[in-house]
Amino acid sequence: MIVMKTDATEEDIQRVVAEVEASGLRADVSRGEFITVIGPVGDERKLAFDRILTFAGVKEASMVETPYKLISREYAKFFGDAGAHTTVKIGDVKVGNGEPVIIAGPCAVESRAQIMRMAEEVKKAGADVLRGGIFKPRSSVHAFQGLGASGIDDAKEALTWLKEAGDAFDLPIVTEARGESVVELVAEYVDLMHIGARNMYDQDLLVQVARQGKPVMIKRHFGASIEELLSFSEYIAAEGNKDIILCERGIVPMGKGKSFTRYTLDLSAVPVIHNETYLPVVVDPSHATGHRNLIFNMSCAAIAAGADGLMIESHYNPAEALVDGPQMVTPDELKEIIDTCRIIHRTVRKH
Ligand code: PEP
Ligand code: MN
Repeated sequence: MIVMKTDATEEDIQRVVAEVEASGLRADVSRGEFITVIGPVGDERKLAFDRILTFAGVKEASMVETPYKLISREYAKFFGDAGAHTTVKIGDVKVGNGEPVIIAGPCAVESRAQIMRMAEEVKKAGADVLRGGIFKPRSSVHAFQGLGASGIDDAKEALTWLKEAGDAFDLPIVTEARGESVVELVAEYVDLMHIGARNMYDQDLLVQVARQGKPVMIKRHFGASIEELLSFSEYIAAEGNKDIILCERGIVPMGKGKSFTRYTLDLSAVPVIHNETYLPVVVDPSHATGHRNLIFNMSCAAIAAGADGLMIESHYNPAEALVDGPQMVTPDELKEIIDTCRIIHRTVRKH
């Protein structure tokens, strides 16, 4: 749709109409008391909206169609799969439209013994899926980068431990594929491919991850709008993979001075995403808040907001965790969170 400025001349309007027609579309011109709106009819992708925006007299020029048609609730009927992807399976665990699914485990896989023990602990606490980072996104190159960063053999070994731990306690597994070079390797082992917040904008990574034939969890970048999260998730759907789980993990806090949390958990994203798409949404209160004592409250709030699941970092001894110790909950705390969240879920659903 192209909106003209109040002082646009007839010549300005005709120039836009000519451009729309030259691109093979029809131009519907609607003249109001103050402004004229030009609606292109036809395949909007053929129009160079950015170019039209530079024309004299043009105020706004943008597509009317949503940039995330393939995952959109509104457009689903045009693709013959209305409601078809409201649930995504991670191994045998169903996410969406049912009991909240709890993904839990340490921030990073640190040793075979550590991930084995954590698998047992999170299973006992009631979790459904085991997490553990092997390629960690870190702000400092001098910080621990995950066991996988030191070479292919170490990466394979850590992936084997994660898989062994998952198998031993009947938990499907998820780990982040931090870059294109490790996508195929990660896909060999995991039940769910994870795209980290920092990589939400990496279209080449999204496409490659989508092609592995596994479900994908994509985390919202901390500076991204919901529209951007959905538009970039569309890259996965465009590869024919609609097994997508969206993850809200907090956005950059506003203003000067302390916010007291690592990020700001945007819980309104949950119902908004449910309105916009048919895909399941999970919430990560760990990276969002950065503090162990906030995880219980924000987990409860996320489930009350309608989240289809949670991803929570846990460690049997947070003080000795190599990464993200301050936000790890103990297995006992995890159990209390899960038990309470299941009660909240039942209550909210009933109403
Ligand atoms: C993670 O989940 O391991 C992680 C690093 O989170 P994020 O990408 O949201 O920062
Ligand atoms: Mn972490």
